[in-house]
Amino acid sequence: MQIKDIIAGLERLAPKNYAESWDNVGLLVGDGEWPVTKVMVALDATEEVIDQCVAGKVDLLITHHPMIFSKINRVTTGDLTGRKIVKLLGNKIGYYAMHTNFDVSVMGREAAARLNLANPRVLMPTVQEHFYKVVVYVPVDSVEKVRGAFQKEDAGHIGNYSGCMFGTEGVGSFQPEEGTNPYIGEVNEMTFTKEVRLETIVRPERLKATIDAMLRAHPYEEVAYDVYRLENEGNVEGIGYYGYLERDMALVELVKATKEALGIEHVWVCGSLGKKVASVAISPGSGKSVIKHALAANCDVLITGDIDHHAALDAKEAGLMIIDAGHYGTEHLFVPYVREYVEAITKKQLEVVEAKEEGPFQVL
Ligand SMILES: [Zn+2]
Repeated sequence: MQIKDIIAGLERLAPKNYAESWDNVGLLVGDGEWPVTKVMVALDATEEVIDQCVAGKVDLLITHHPMIFSKINRVTTGDLTGRKIVKLLGNKIGYYAMHTNFDVSVMGREAAARLNLANPRVLMPTVQEHFYKVVVYVPVDSVEKVRGAFQKEDAGHIGNYSGCMFGTEGVGSFQPEEGTNPYIGEVNEMTFTKEVRLETIVRPERLKATIDAMLRAHPYEEVAYDVYRLENEGNVEGIGYYGYLERDMALVELVKATKEALGIEHVWVCGSLGKKVASVAISPGSGKSVIKHALAANCDVLITGDIDHHAALDAKEAGLMIIDAGHYGTEHLFVPYVREYVEAITKKQLEVVEAKEEGPFQVL
């Protein structure tokens, strides 16, 4: 197996075009053609984590936060980032980051699921899904082959349904010209044949691969197909989720539930502990920018990380309670989630391990 095979699976989970424009995601160090037998997953590519990769003979490190963020003028051992890159390359370790694209695709939804929030909705929309429609005319005996090629590229994926396609039978006509080698019909003779108009929808990032696969599966020399950009509004995706607790509870009870859901021991709380809460927003990572979205959604409480003194005061005065469970505490779910995902897509053909890391802070 090569690094690029794992990347293809990761990008089905968290498409790169879901990342914010300022972000830096994808393969940041290494070569997609390098072989992989062992993968490590971590929240951060600290030097300590990279040393664990070297000691454990890891071939690919996957983290949430991108190790390379700003412009680099040189790659030498003279500074921290350079030293980390040199160490990765010197040990032939590939390095891949999935950051805000993972936040949008998985993080908020997974955090809301851990709290059993009912009717979960996106807190801060950042991505409006849209689709293309691909229509192709296929001779009847090849419909299943083309349908299979579409489905393999994940065309026709609507919500929780895959392989959504529609076929209508009709008659196609064409006249093969001199120099052709037609699948059906004779040169210089008008040919009429039963064909199926097979149509499906495709995500923009899958369009090229889907058309290539369809052309490979289609028996004709010249394939008639159309691509339309659809105006339908697809799902909205974004940062954080909000929804309702299974039952109203006091803030102090929600604190306990949050610690259990995220597997953490300490949180900071802003609000009256006895106050009843029903609607909850959860946004792993830095939550300052989603406070206004939690207020707009009429949430009673926001569970997040990295809230500073002034942001907490303003939220409190505006009527929003906050549970600050820490940046590390709210996002650490990335590590087991991605480990299990990589194990599943590679069918346990390689070893996937979690890095030993504790975040930068200790609570004393
Ligand atoms: Zn983060």
